[in-house]
Amino acid sequence: MSKLPDSQGFATRAIHYGYDPLDYDGALNPPVFLTSTYAFDKSDTGSERFAGNADGYVYSRVGNPTVSILEKRLAALEEGEAAMATSSGVGALTAVIWTLLKAGDEIIADQMLYGCTFGLLEHHISRFGISVQFADLTDPANLKTAIGSRTRMVITETPSNPNMRIVDIAAIGEICHKFDALLVVDNTYCTPYLQRPLSLGADIVTHSATKYLGGHGDLIAGAVIASKDMIDQFRFVGIKELNGACISAFDAFLILRGLKTLNLRMDRHCETAHRLAHALEGHPGVARVYYPGLDSHPQKAVAARQMRAMGGMIALELKGGMAAGRAFLDGVQLATRAVSLGDAETLVQHPASMTHSTYNPEERARHGLTDGLVRISVGLETYDDLQADLVGALDRMVRG
Ligand SMILES: *Cc1c(COP(=O)(O)O)cnc(C)c1O
Repeated sequence: MSKLPDSQGFATRAIHYGYDPLDYDGALNPPVFLTSTYAFDKSDTGSERFAGNADGYVYSRVGNPTVSILEKRLAALEEGEAAMATSSGVGALTAVIWTLLKAGDEIIADQMLYGCTFGLLEHHISRFGISVQFADLTDPANLKTAIGSRTRMVITETPSNPNMRIVDIAAIGEICHKFDALLVVDNTYCTPYLQRPLSLGADIVTHSATKYLGGHGDLIAGAVIASKDMIDQFRFVGIKELNGACISAFDAFLILRGLKTLNLRMDRHCETAHRLAHALEGHPGVARVYYPGLDSHPQKAVAARQMRAMGGMIALELKGGMAAGRAFLDGVQLATRAVSLGDAETLVQHPASMTHSTYNPEERARHGLTDGLVRISVGLETYDDLQADLVGALDRMVRG
């Protein structure tokens, strides 16, 4: 399929891997296969494909040529054996959980997670007999204390959404493997350009491709990258028979388009976020800036070890709690008040009342998610315009 060896650079793989135009009449871009089903030349072909004895497509819930190109490319970028694209990031994680776990098993999860991941684990999964312990995985000693013989899976994000805590993937992976637990890392914030969890010791990587991978805020999608064996299970059990969260061919095409500029976009997101984090630190309205590139970040060294650059997400702890958060959000003019992240547009939101309202006030307090925290997904706009907008909103917030 691909004319390129695996050793080629990240950008080369992001643009070319898994697709040769000469296979498709020279079309520079992969065709979008808008088809739900596939014709068999004879009945044997169908039964052989269903039995898994012959390659070939049968139905687009379990496979589609456009989606396959995306999956090959994502696996190459994450340095995994195989990948599966899904209809959303939540669909990716639930396909993994429903496929691998059963009643009686235990998950240990970091205490700070994407809001709906937390919602699933804290409020719903116990109905299916799977128990969950939350722990502060920024200190691997906490995992050593919590882990036991029923622990089948450990789930973390790093940097964690929204307050940018860093989890040491290699240290956590080592503990997991002593206990035969699988380490799942949600790599949405970093993308494989900034961090490759599988090479650090994770077993499974999940993504919300809605964010940086797509990069343009025009789709909802997800992905899982793991061993070929596990991906086969996720596809033929998880997606096929459990959650049905298959991606559309058109969304796969849009992600392939987004990937072509992933490294360029990430470089700029990181550079602008780094400058903004420095510019906003010390502002009289800001108690604290959470960004792993700042000297004030307690896990700066771990971040520097496992990430190429420090990412495009910043969180600000504002002096003045909820009222300050609202004043800041209402004060921005260039930045957009919206959830989601990883788009060209800078997006600001208030986790306590928006993305993380799945944590109740007591849970937010316990996990350090304060009412004065605002999250900024730093976009690709001209730096000076962004700085003026954010500092202007902070100045007006302080003046009241
Ligand atoms: C958005 C997000 C998800 C969920 O992905 P969807 O595509 O919205 O289903 C999961 N994890 C993280 C870190 C996210 O930012």
